[in-house]
Amino acid sequence: MSSSSPLGRSRPQACALVLAVVTAVLLAGCAVSGTPRREAMKDPIRCSASECPELPVFSSKRLAESGVTAANASTTVPAYLTAVLDDLESVWQEWFAELNIENAAAGRVLITPGTSYRSECLKDTELRSGIPSDYPNAFYCLLDSEPDGGGTARKGSVILPVTTFAEMWDGKLMGSSGILLGDFTAATIIAHEYGHNVMYRLLEAYSMDKREGPTGDAPELLADCFAGNWAATVFGRKDLSFKEMAQAAMLIISIGDPAPGQGHGTSLARAKALWKGFSDNLKRQGTPGDCLQAYWPAVLRSA
Ligand SMILES: [Zn+2]
Repeated sequence: MSSSSPLGRSRPQACALVLAVVTAVLLAGCAVSGTPRREAMKDPIRCSASECPELPVFSSKRLAESGVTAANASTTVPAYLTAVLDDLESVWQEWFAELNIENAAAGRVLITPGTSYRSECLKDTELRSGIPSDYPNAFYCLLDSEPDGGGTARKGSVILPVTTFAEMWDGKLMGSSGILLGDFTAATIIAHEYGHNVMYRLLEAYSMDKREGPTGDAPELLADCFAGNWAATVFGRKDLSFKEMAQAAMLIISIGDPAPGQGHGTSLARAKALWKGFSDNLKRQGTPGDCLQAYWPAVLRSA
């Protein structure tokens, strides 16, 4: 479940990253040595599908339009990526708090133009000078300890190559031309990567072995579904239009794998996962419980 490019097409480097992460060993949960004065840490709650909290819709929070143009991309793109990460973090941390799960934020790395990042998920032999800012993949690496939005180092980080993201506003999606690209294309990719963080923090909180995590295509579909959960909260506060949801759907369709079992799910399966996270057939907002029930039922408490 750990690594996490949103891209379906196989690329040797991306595959190597996946392998490097998959072989990583999860840290055991930290022991808590309570002092008499301190309130004992409550045990993490495992919810059943129907009782899992919804993601909160913050009425006051607004994800402003990025305003990215060719002339200002060097400042507006990093600012927008950060704004999306901040938004994801506040929404998901509220959800984790309801489950008594602490320290669940993601570390974050923005690889800005002219810089590179040496991820622990790289094998020694690949990308010796690190991941460049135009690397054609975003991903989540659970070995990298980087600061979260509040500056606290977190083992498990979202890695975003800024130049690759900036090209999306030029209509280029990681090397190929797409249509309907824009703010929400970028946001959906980041939300997908953050979805891997959500899975990992649940494994960690419940002291589960990584072999108990979702398997096959399920980790990627679950990350898509969680991205849909978050998109629903943005939509719920009227920050997101149907046009932007179409951007997200087009993105998913254009990056699906050609066949099941190749790590990311088919385009149709991915679009379904995103939609499941977004809405229960427009009757209500999709919830993390819906996603877990579909793609990782073993993590739920049986009702
Ligand atoms: Zn992924």
